[in-house]
Amino acid sequence: MREYSVAAVPGDGIGSEVISAGIRVLHAVAARDGGFNLNVENFPWGTDYYLEHGKMMPEDALDTLRAFDAIYFGSAGDPRVPDHISLWGLRLAICQPLDQYANVRPARLLPGIQGPLRDVGPEDLDWVIVRENSEGEYAGVGGRVHSGLADEVGMDVAVFTRSGVERIQRFALELARSRPRKKLTLVTKSNAQRHGMVFWDDVFEKVREDFPDVETDKMLVDAMTTRMVLNPESLDTIVATNLHADVLSDLAAALTGSLGIAPTANLRPERDAPSMFEPIHGSAFDIMGQGIANPIGSFWTAAMMLDHLGETVAAASLMTAVERVTANGDILPRDLGGDASTEQVTDAVIDALEGRNE
Ligand code: NAD
Ligand code: MN
Repeated sequence: MREYSVAAVPGDGIGSEVISAGIRVLHAVAARDGGFNLNVENFPWGTDYYLEHGKMMPEDALDTLRAFDAIYFGSAGDPRVPDHISLWGLRLAICQPLDQYANVRPARLLPGIQGPLRDVGPEDLDWVIVRENSEGEYAGVGGRVHSGLADEVGMDVAVFTRSGVERIQRFALELARSRPRKKLTLVTKSNAQRHGMVFWDDVFEKVREDFPDVETDKMLVDAMTTRMVLNPESLDTIVATNLHADVLSDLAAALTGSLGIAPTANLRPERDAPSMFEPIHGSAFDIMGQGIANPIGSFWTAAMMLDHLGETVAAASLMTAVERVTANGDILPRDLGGDASTEQVTDAVIDALEGRNE
């Protein structure tokens, strides 16, 4: 029996609702597969922990996490604490030191789901956005001085290093090469940002020489938003900086029906530290505690985690089960136009896995 250890960090808001649903589904997938076991340990870090201990997670949290094969994460953010404290104290405090530099965000229309774009079906919208996840605009470099004075200054400096830019672009080119269309779009803003972004483009010109079989093009980030809406079928794999891909991937999630279905992986491709898997959405304050959060994003995320662990057959069967539920359309959460609870959607996916709702 293959054994995997998974650290679950549900975090705040609806994080615990969707992660516990995801763990139920993961155990059902493993039971059905019969070839592997998932040992899931739960870590109750986040805002409650912060209010008690003054930090979002314990001092030795990273050492604890390093021992796991993967991290299954919910959300960081709670109305009782400023967002930059929760985000930097939990999610970024894991991603950055573990150097999970490749943030991978698939976006496609699941069967049965009508996105907001008229006449756009599953064959027209099938993207993977690769987000640089370690530097750029979110490097954390900057400062704030002269607090409260008329000349107060706040600065965030976008940092682009040759090694950081090269490794993410190479990763994206390899991912593009592995997909049928072998097509990669580089997102940039080198018209207005003439240092870091021109450097980003220059590195790309060099790196892409190693991938003559991958078709590439380049888009300014503002024009990219219109292309995503008006010509979704012209895109396949996309690589963008930390900030640009953060924004574009929420747009991508909306174009595929709801933020509630979108998954993401924070990968450490070298595999010398665990990677972290999370739904794209946040804590959803407006619906937390009501049992109505859409768990599909956390299921798709779980499938990405299984894939990364090497359980590709189990990952595919989980996605097939999710797609059966969306295609059937009887049991959908509210954000997808239905009225099912988190638990009902979870039950339906487990039934579909076990072939009970044909
Ligand atoms: P959000 O994703 O929490 O919510 C945006 C909207 O989408 C809300 O109306 C919400 O109800 C809806 N939504 C999100 N997920 C849903 C789901 N699974 N099912 C149904 N509806 C869903 O984004 P926000 O409001 O900008 O942020 C709220 C908090 O979450 C903030 O504290 C923010 O910092 C945090 N956040 C954390 C992460 C993370 O940890 N990865 C990501 C985004 C936001
Ligand atoms: Mn975001």
